[in-house]
Amino acid sequence: MLKEPESMAECAFFSRRVLKDSTRLLAWVPKGTNVMNVKYTCGHCKKQGEITQEFQKPARFNCQNCGIDIIIESLKKGRGKKSKKAK
Ligand SMILES: [Zn+2]
Repeated sequence: MLKEPESMAECAFFSRRVLKDSTRLLAWVPKGTNVMNVKYTCGHCKKQGEITQEFQKPARFNCQNCGIDIIIESLKKGRGKKSKKAK
């Protein structure tokens, strides 16, 4: 089991979303790493899974069960949380 981050402050990227196809996911990248952790419930096959993989943009992964491509779209601006990070 992946351990969820205790606070967003530990993360370079953090996203808790329900996508259009009803996939629920929690994705985060611990600061100082380029590793994305994802816990999800696939909206296609309804199975739960966990994935750890290299972080890329746009963030995306494939369901381990049905293989469907899941894309974590960038959040629209708002909520007063700055997510833009120049590198
Ligand atoms: Zn699936």
